[in-house]
Amino acid sequence: ELERKTQVSGRLVSLGEMAAGLAHEINNPLTPILGFADLLLGKDLPKNIRADLLIIRDSARRTADVTRRLLIFARQSKPMRALCNINEVVETVLQLRVYALKTNSIKVITELAPKLPQTMADSGQLQQVVLNLIMNAEYEMSQAHRGGNLLVKTEKMGNIIRVSVKDDGPGISKENREKLFQPFFTTKKVGEGTGLGLSVCHGIVTEHNGRIYAESGLGQGTTFTVELPIVGQQKEEEAKPLDSNTPEVEK
Ligand code: ADP
Repeated sequence: ELERKTQVSGRLVSLGEMAAGLAHEINNPLTPILGFADLLLGKDLPKNIRADLLIIRDSARRTADVTRRLLIFARQSKPMRALCNINEVVETVLQLRVYALKTNSIKVITELAPKLPQTMADSGQLQQVVLNLIMNAEYEMSQAHRGGNLLVKTEKMGNIIRVSVKDDGPGISKENREKLFQPFFTTKKVGEGTGLGLSVCHGIVTEHNGRIYAESGLGQGTTFTVELPIVGQQKEEEAKPLDSNTPEVEK
């Protein structure tokens, strides 16, 4: 059962990433197709050419509708907010990965703040974020030394909930740290990584008015931190984004 859950979670992450990647790749060339078709339709054209152009524009519109659906599937659309418990989000993800972590000889330590307040968030999206961070850590540690230690922590810091995922893997060079959240940046072999995971995480966390950053140095492991503002049920509209200057700490 655990093995099945692990496989499903892996597949969901990569399917979501692939869908989001495809949708963006298709949307880019689609914008000028739609724009120029509309522009031309505004001109005085022979009847038969206008009819052909209408077919081009309608097909492009249909394609845009498909990519919109793909983005919704990949959950890169507006989050569905409800009061949620971030500790539960973390525990759910760890449950999904228990088997994989064990088979990869990774020891997991959790330090979950006992009285973490609930916050308005999309728990499904946040699960996707934590899952991605844990799977990345898992991958890097097992590639580097076939196992390792993973620390997953939640804390309340003033009006912020902080979730951190710390590994003792190979770490990330300064050069790569700057590219981590760019779409399609990956150091994994062809077929193993899409380079979309962290960019999707960044999108989700930003949608929640939070921030995500990495602290790492080559040979010193990596800590990914997600900070989310604590938002009450009524206060959702008033929530201000956290300062977007993400601290980039070098060890
Ligand atoms: P992918 O996993 O498909 O490569 P991501 O956006 O999730 O895409 O990650 C991008 C890159 O960031 C990875 O290829 C890897 O180089 C680096 N990375 C992410 N997490 C870690 C980590 N915990 N330790 C070392 N490198 C990492």
